[in-house]
Amino acid sequence: MSTSILRFAPSPTGLLHIGNARTALINWLYARKNKATFILRLDDTDLERSEEQYEQAIYQDLKWLGLDYDRIEWQSKRLNEYQKAAESLKASGRLYACYETPEELEFKRRRLLSQGRPPIYDRAALNLTSEDHARFLNEGRKPHWRFKLMPQVISWEDLIRGKIHFEGEHLSDPILIREDNSPVYTLSSVVDDIDFGITHIIRGEDHITNTAIQLQLFAALGTDPKSFTFGHVQYLLGEQGESLSKRIGSLSLRQLREEGYEACALASYLVKLGTSEDISPSLSLDNLIQEFDISHVSRAAPRFNKNMLDRMNSRLLHHQSFKHVQARLSEKNLSFITEEFWNTCHGNINKLSDLKHIWNVCTQEITPKIEDTKYLEQASNTLPLEPWTSETWLKWTQDLKEKTGRKGRELFMPLRQALTGEDHGPEMKELLPLIGREKALKRLQGKVA
Ligand code: GLU
Repeated sequence: MSTSILRFAPSPTGLLHIGNARTALINWLYARKNKATFILRLDDTDLERSEEQYEQAIYQDLKWLGLDYDRIEWQSKRLNEYQKAAESLKASGRLYACYETPEELEFKRRRLLSQGRPPIYDRAALNLTSEDHARFLNEGRKPHWRFKLMPQVISWEDLIRGKIHFEGEHLSDPILIREDNSPVYTLSSVVDDIDFGITHIIRGEDHITNTAIQLQLFAALGTDPKSFTFGHVQYLLGEQGESLSKRIGSLSLRQLREEGYEACALASYLVKLGTSEDISPSLSLDNLIQEFDISHVSRAAPRFNKNMLDRMNSRLLHHQSFKHVQARLSEKNLSFITEEFWNTCHGNINKLSDLKHIWNVCTQEITPKIEDTKYLEQASNTLPLEPWTSETWLKWTQDLKEKTGRKGRELFMPLRQALTGEDHGPEMKELLPLIGREKALKRLQGKVA
């Protein structure tokens, strides 16, 4: 076991989506590859927005994706720790009380912006006298508390984005404690990362500025910021480079699972997209761990394309052995699928659920689609005797071609329509042996069979 410790820290305020899943995966793969500890941390301090159903959904979705963790931590159980940290920052003069209302802050912000200046808090509260404080408190105003940043250069070597650089004086002192005394994520996350001995913080790129601030916060709480390695994962974009924020709800793990994607296809796609690596599916998460290299994670914002995910899914199924897929088949109520059927059909499906339809076409009753009785009569007369293999179709249709002079669509389509009742489907050479001679003959004669 290495001494590295990583964490994935979702907030149970909604369903995990592909963006969260990508961050979770990169953390997990890094942890498992390096034999590190992996913690699931629930950022559930926002009592109004956090919901039990979303917490349960996080467990289910991670399980479906195949990501395990060594333990769970709940921020809601650690409020005392955050208070203690706040007190120590107050004592060292790094946390100061402010009384501005949201309206006042908004006014200040707009004024700065209209002057073409960055909306950095002006630190007016640092000039309040003890009388001012007493007056505000007397008026019943409750303070919120800001962290006093140092005017230093802040920089780090990001695992994914390389060197990142900030000037402390260009950042606004962040609020760490709200008026109702609740801690803001910026503080609680740092306290947890220190207490849990986290070594690698891999999270979304929306946290880059937080990282700059938190590096000072680690130091202010007596921990060497160098004990953390950071990686910021890029946001996913849509196919055309558009933001996914509006569609992200429909790209939840729950939804994709219900649409019948294989978790391993999704995982492979999320990790490999945007890289120069061949976007081919890994057949198992173990393989994905073997192949994983964080330096290959895309630095440019990767584009998520559902068609590519579809392709990944079918490629995965095309390569999967019956033994490997058996458990999944029973999960999907497809345990009646036999090994022979799988071997014949898995090269033709995009999702496991497609098997059901093919199975029905081959083994249940269907109504044939008959357009040209004469041709079909000739076809039934030339139908070879069993045993049938995947060669039978070619043999039969070549024979028919010679006898009738038909070719292409004219030759094949009436046969497909009669034998399957449909215009499209998997390759007939694979289906024919599964349908069998008895059914085939009846269907060619226009009978329900
Ligand atoms: N709850 C935060 C988020 O979901 C966690 C960020 C972090 O990993 O520090 O964005």
